[in-house]
Amino acid sequence: MNEAIAPESAEKLYRTARTRLAEAGIPSPDLDASLLLEHATGLTVLARITEPGRLVPTEKIERFRTCVERRLAREPVHRIIGEREFYGLPLQLTAATLVPRPDTETLVDLVLPLVRNRVARNGHCRILDMGTGSGAIALALLAEVSRATATGTDISAEALMVAQANASLLGLADRFTAIRSDWFEEVTGQFELIVSNPPYIRSDDIPGLDPDVREHDPLQALDGGRDGLDAYRVLAERSAPFLAENGAIAVEIGHDQAPEVTNLFVSAGYRRIGRRKDYGGHVRALFFVK
Ligand code: GLN
Repeated sequence: MNEAIAPESAEKLYRTARTRLAEAGIPSPDLDASLLLEHATGLTVLARITEPGRLVPTEKIERFRTCVERRLAREPVHRIIGEREFYGLPLQLTAATLVPRPDTETLVDLVLPLVRNRVARNGHCRILDMGTGSGAIALALLAEVSRATATGTDISAEALMVAQANASLLGLADRFTAIRSDWFEEVTGQFELIVSNPPYIRSDDIPGLDPDVREHDPLQALDGGRDGLDAYRVLAERSAPFLAENGAIAVEIGHDQAPEVTNLFVSAGYRRIGRRKDYGGHVRALFFVK
């Protein structure tokens, strides 16, 4: 504890932090300073704006300053907070999980009509999320469609603990099963839908990634092998036995991978039934049936 720190106003703390973040070249200093202030002090953005003179007590100032130092060292803001919103759900994160990206919401949008349709027609829809990480895709679908069920696999036991914790916190644990598996190895049963946001970065491109990603997201969740397509080969070639009749498979892809990934699935006997662009205008998700 530093005895010398006197209480300061929320607005002044925010402004000082924003300036420091901006001067260090952090891309979104306003947003990051706001998010960290709220996280460290419990003061919402609204409270800061409507009561700018409100004093923040010493111990909360220390906590806030520690958070700002971590951000200045390029730790991603959502990792400092330990949470990120995905498809309207607050998801807990640890070092074992990729931070869920807004682009991945594209994949949820693409498959949601099929999940709703299967539940309406058959009363259920079994979903398999390969490499579930924080559980983002599976849990978003379960939250949207009340009678769907999901199995999330991951090779990381730690990631599965996070997925399971998220399922519990969101009240979805009774419809979510976590299985530790190297791709399909431990998976049994059949599913109306398989989804995956697999690792798809080319190994040679990893060193050039933004440090926020390269140094903080788990490499296992990023590295797609020499051409970035290793995971899609497994998904295209080994998924068929796990698909129920008329089952479908949807994957997130890198911004330039649509032609290659489509070819892999077509060569394995699939037909493409949909695709969807991300917020940046790149095809980000592909949808196939056998
Ligand atoms: N979209 C992530 C990134 O660009 C990569 C995630 C992945 O490989 N599935 O950092």
